[in-house]
Amino acid sequence: MQPDEGKTHVDHDGTPSQGTFDLDVDLLQGVDLSRFTEPRLHQLLEAGFRVRLADRKRPAPEPKVARAIGLNTLHGADEHDLREALHVLAAWLRNPSETPPPAKRSRFNRPEGTGQLPAPRCLTTALAPRTCGLCNDPIKTGDEMGRFRRLKPPLDRTFITMSWLCRHCLLDRREQPRRRDLLIRVFHHLLAGSAVGLNPKECAVLHIWLDNPAIRQTLAWQRDPLDATTVRLATSVAEDKPTTWIAYPTASTALRAMAAAEPDHPEARLLQDVLQHVTDWDTNPSGVDTRRYGTGTPYRQQVLRTTPRPTWLSELGGPFFLHKSFDPAEEGVGEEPEDG
Ligand SMILES: [Zn+2]
Repeated sequence: MQPDEGKTHVDHDGTPSQGTFDLDVDLLQGVDLSRFTEPRLHQLLEAGFRVRLADRKRPAPEPKVARAIGLNTLHGADEHDLREALHVLAAWLRNPSETPPPAKRSRFNRPEGTGQLPAPRCLTTALAPRTCGLCNDPIKTGDEMGRFRRLKPPLDRTFITMSWLCRHCLLDRREQPRRRDLLIRVFHHLLAGSAVGLNPKECAVLHIWLDNPAIRQTLAWQRDPLDATTVRLATSVAEDKPTTWIAYPTASTALRAMAAAEPDHPEARLLQDVLQHVTDWDTNPSGVDTRRYGTGTPYRQQVLRTTPRPTWLSELGGPFFLHKSFDPAEEGVGEEPEDG
């Protein structure tokens, strides 16, 4: 074994040594690719392609690897796609006769109606375990996962591109929202703006959650009663209203009341994490300079980045564009969010 095993060695004839690249490929099993930046990922990929080409000229490897992750070319691929391309290439080098199958890129089984999300860019099978880039649930080897298309301007100026997501987050999270999905939606909407936009299914989840005498008795509810909000939620469910806006202070009260009433809830940890970040935005514990960052999304992003108590939410960052129910002007539905 070479001491500088991380580098790709080049034989006297100019081709990378098969054995050394195998070492790199094997390293993918034990190494967290998330530590590698784009130049290093490109370097590994190029070395892998050379190894494949030295072994077999056809089929041309790069298009096959690109299609396996739902792209036509790896040119311009971001770090999340480059990491996945490396997993595909590593698997192919281990089994040279098994050409990587293309990712599914159309005819997704999507829900209809207000719970529908945009068509994903692709759906494929995880070649290595990881966690979902939105809900943080584990994605095991062999599980379906996929990505959305890259955000277009002006959305890409406000929102961070999500990485690979579990099937639920990609297709079903708005049609069959879990409490987890609701909390994540609240977090990203409050990071991005002054209100949380919910579809009727999400309103129903929140309504059922709040419909609890213990929550009504909390100090948070007593100080800022949510009776009118629960009526609005019930109406939105009954009328199948596409978007209902919950203003920032109301959403914040709901989080506090739910956290105080149900300390042992299965999503209690996530609820505490969301509440911690929302509280950080109010209290600015790391002293973010508001003259530089203002009081809007850049401020909240910076508070999140510098939080004294990092969580997986702060590690993923944001805000993520969770589709629809975001800008009332753009949607032409719902009521104007109140200023938070
Ligand atoms: Zn997920």
